[in-house]
Amino acid sequence: MTTAVMVTGAGTGIGKATAVRLAQEGHVVLLVGRRDGPLKQTQAELEGAGHVVLSVDVSDRMAFHSALLGIMGQPGAGDMDLVGVFANAGIGGPNGFDIDESNDRWDEIMRINVTGVYVTLQVCRPYLKASPREVTHAVVTSSVLARFGVPGQSAYVTSKTAVLGLVRSLAVEWGVDGILVNAICPGWVETEMARESIQRMADAQGMSYEDCHAQQCSVLPTGKMSSPEEMAEAVVWLMSPGQTGMTGQGVDVNNGSWMS
Ligand code: NAD
Repeated sequence: MTTAVMVTGAGTGIGKATAVRLAQEGHVVLLVGRRDGPLKQTQAELEGAGHVVLSVDVSDRMAFHSALLGIMGQPGAGDMDLVGVFANAGIGGPNGFDIDESNDRWDEIMRINVTGVYVTLQVCRPYLKASPREVTHAVVTSSVLARFGVPGQSAYVTSKTAVLGLVRSLAVEWGVDGILVNAICPGWVETEMARESIQRMADAQGMSYEDCHAQQCSVLPTGKMSSPEEMAEAVVWLMSPGQTGMTGQGVDVNNGSWMS
């Protein structure tokens, strides 16, 4: 039976790099995201055959469930064995309280970053449970901003903290079915999302992008930001068949920007 893994937000950044690595591990990858173009581009770059694009909003539970059913068939019935899900899709950026809600991004950020992760894991659960493998894996992308707060991003910080609660809860609920649930908590990763944040910080401080980037790196023990490929290595390990003992954890892959 072919092993399959799902990656959300697979068209760009961390999701794309992880899809590439999971395909190298021999899995068929179910590439989930909102935009067909970047997902198809990722699909074209993957090793092996059979990779599938699912263009859905991760917070739309009915559309997501139907799309997965269309690809996989009923749990346990098709010829693909879902052994892992990487719930990685998310949005960043600031929010601010606004009494008529017109400019407040709170609901949007919560819908995608919290509800979207919840829906992703829940629609995959019956397939993970039906796997003949003793252990299957769910991994969520949280953030170092689940470890400390920053000004102007209360929605993002809250959303990334909330998913660690979700990870712990589902680890308890699903352990009996052999589904291990963990998170990665990245620091800065060189992706479009990080570039936009750094540009906003640079503009606010009246400095150049390059100076702001260098300033952020200078306070990190390693002196550098992560690559998406570094995140992919952590996810591949968390999803490996030999990873049978860790569940309910947030794994800090952050260049030492926060230490427990
Ligand atoms: P990115 O913007 O390249 O990737 C996010 C992906 O999620 C995009 O492909 C986007 O299309 C997809 N997406 C957004 N909303 C969606 C929705 N409703 N349905 C389906 N897909 C949706 O940025 P990235 O840095 O690769 O982000 C991946 C994850 O990493 C995010 O959850 C982000 O919060 C987290 N993260 C990023 C950093 C960083 O510094 N880049 C740090 C910590 C955590």
